[in-house]
Amino acid sequence: MQELQRQIVQQVSPVIPELTDSMSEAMVHRYMDAYEHATYLNESVSGNQVSWANYNEDAVKMAVSKPWQGGDFSQRIWGTMGNQFPEMLVSNLVQGLILGENPRKIAKRVAATNKQLQESNLHRLIQTEMAHVTEEATFKSYQDTDVEWYEYMATLESRTCETCGHMDMEHYKVSEKVSGANYPPIHPYCRCTTAAWFEGMPEVGKRWSKDPTTGKKKMVDGISFDEWKNGYDLLTKQDHVAEPKVAASVPVPKNIQAYTSQAAEHVIASNPFLKRAFNGNKLNLIYDETTFFGRSNIIGATSRSEDKTIHLNPAHYQSETLLKKYMESGKEDFVNIKPSQYRKYPIIHEMGHIFHNELWNQYQQRNPDSIISREKFIADETRKIYTIYEKQTGKTVKPSLLPSVYATKNDSEAFAELFTLANIGRPSQWRTAMNTYLKGVNQSDAGT
Ligand SMILES: [Zn+2]
Ligand SMILES: [Zn+2]
Repeated sequence: MQELQRQIVQQVSPVIPELTDSMSEAMVHRYMDAYEHATYLNESVSGNQVSWANYNEDAVKMAVSKPWQGGDFSQRIWGTMGNQFPEMLVSNLVQGLILGENPRKIAKRVAATNKQLQESNLHRLIQTEMAHVTEEATFKSYQDTDVEWYEYMATLESRTCETCGHMDMEHYKVSEKVSGANYPPIHPYCRCTTAAWFEGMPEVGKRWSKDPTTGKKKMVDGISFDEWKNGYDLLTKQDHVAEPKVAASVPVPKNIQAYTSQAAEHVIASNPFLKRAFNGNKLNLIYDETTFFGRSNIIGATSRSEDKTIHLNPAHYQSETLLKKYMESGKEDFVNIKPSQYRKYPIIHEMGHIFHNELWNQYQQRNPDSIISREKFIADETRKIYTIYEKQTGKTVKPSLLPSVYATKNDSEAFAELFTLANIGRPSQWRTAMNTYLKGVNQSDAGT
């Protein structure tokens, strides 16, 4: 038994941080998608528009990290088998699981480490947490759009939730919501959901609209979710990213600008080193077609002559479809990321270049007499990552071992690719090595 435990710890421990990271990200996405969708519907019912300025990713993360029915959740699910695992391992695993994505796959993966973990239990746990996040996002949207009532819906996809059938189509006040009692999920595997309700709701295909000057509501023809999303000014206040500039004959949709800026903002805000390096200065994002004349296959470029500036190619940013197409056609050359993260790839890759540029700036400031070139400096930093990888795997780094074709181009591309992998990549030993390196940079001499 002791030996078995030791083996499990050995097998599972290295993947826990990766598992938790990627799953927490998946949950954040689920929350944001659910919130957007609910808001689209709720605005049509209330006529009130949400202020996206109040919407920040940290708040989302907080919401996502609170498991359904609180802290003893792990106890209930794992109760019977808890003693067989070292306590720390259990809590780590559970934490990863409650933040989970693709329930079946994760269940399989974890169950594979111990036959006694029943796949179905894990599946139930993850499924229920997914439902919980979706319903919480929906509820937040009720509050933000001033919806007063919700209708309980126990029937969805032609299947009724048996336990909750008696609540179907009941109306409850948003202010009187009690999770698990009159607000779903009520029980594991609960399929119930809710929708905004009030007397005199618009008929299907119509929605309320509020005149911004008179404040009067009127009924207008409905628009599709995509139209709503594209037209909406999703731009939120950025601490470290300036308002994007668009110099292009074809405009870049606001929502694409918004999530691109937010991805960059998130990178800066979550890396203490970058946060210090930016220190009140802002990142400039420029969608400028002139930068890419004659090299239309390039999607982004980080300027060496301009400080903290990224140029993005508007040709590929005109629509989601084009952006996706670009990523699909190049994916063999890029690091291994989930398709759901494709649209963030170009900006995160360029943020990798910003990162090594800022490291170089800092180095120059601290070593004004150094004769090391920028190229040599970046090569040395990249070598540090390789060394971590080599220690970790026992392998010697050579071009064919690098995490992507693009990474073999030169040291700064390798750095940018590894940076992308660390931020939005699938778990791998390269990702672990890069995370170790970044941790080192982020923790080093804070404040100096
Ligand atoms: Zn139910
Ligand atoms: Zn690059």
